[in-house]
Amino acid sequence: MIMPIFALGQPVLRKETFDIDEKYPDLQQLIENMWETMYHAQGVGLAAPQVGLDIRMFLVDTQQTKDEDNDDGKGIKQVFINATMLEEEGKQWAYEEGCLSIPEVRADVLRKPNIKIEYYDEHFKKHVKEFDGIEARVIQHEYDHVDGVLFIDYVKPLKKRLIKRKLDRIRAGNIVPEYRMKFAPKKR
Ligand SMILES: [Zn+2]
Repeated sequence: MIMPIFALGQPVLRKETFDIDEKYPDLQQLIENMWETMYHAQGVGLAAPQVGLDIRMFLVDTQQTKDEDNDDGKGIKQVFINATMLEEEGKQWAYEEGCLSIPEVRADVLRKPNIKIEYYDEHFKKHVKEFDGIEARVIQHEYDHVDGVLFIDYVKPLKKRLIKRKLDRIRAGNIVPEYRMKFAPKKR
C-alpha cells in the first residue's frame, strides 16, 4: 500500500522519535508499505517520520542507482531500526541532496564520507557496520530524519534565500507533487 509522504511543515518531521521492538504492531507490513511508497516516489531512502510515524526506523536502497554515484555497482538495500551513529569521519564532501518531503528542492550538503553505525534489521538482529560514499550519504540523510533534522537545515543563508519561496509553497501545500503527499494543515 502506498502511504502519503508527509511534507515539510508537518510537525511529525520535527518530532522526537522513539525506539521500537518486535512487538510494534504490523511492523513487517509497515516495512513493506514503506518500500512500496519509496519506490513509487523514486526515492533511495525513506524514514518513518516521512510517513507520519514518530519511530526510529528508516529504509535505504542504493542498489537502484546505476549511475556514476554508485561506483562499486552494488549498493545496499537495508532496513535500519533503532540506529545509533557511532562514528563519522573523513574530509567533508559536498553532494546535491533532495528529499521526498521537500519536492523539487535540491541543495549541496557537506557531510563526512565514512560512517560506522549500529542498528537492528527487520528481524531485530543487531549489526555494527561501516559505510562510505553514497551509501553513507543516504544513511546520514535518513538518520537525520529520525532526529528531526532536514537537509535544508544545513543550507547556507544565501542559498536558503533562493529556495525560500519554494519551501513556503510546500509548507502551504501550494504544489502539485508527482506522488501522494500529506501537507501541513492550513493555518487560519
Ligand atoms: Zn529526506
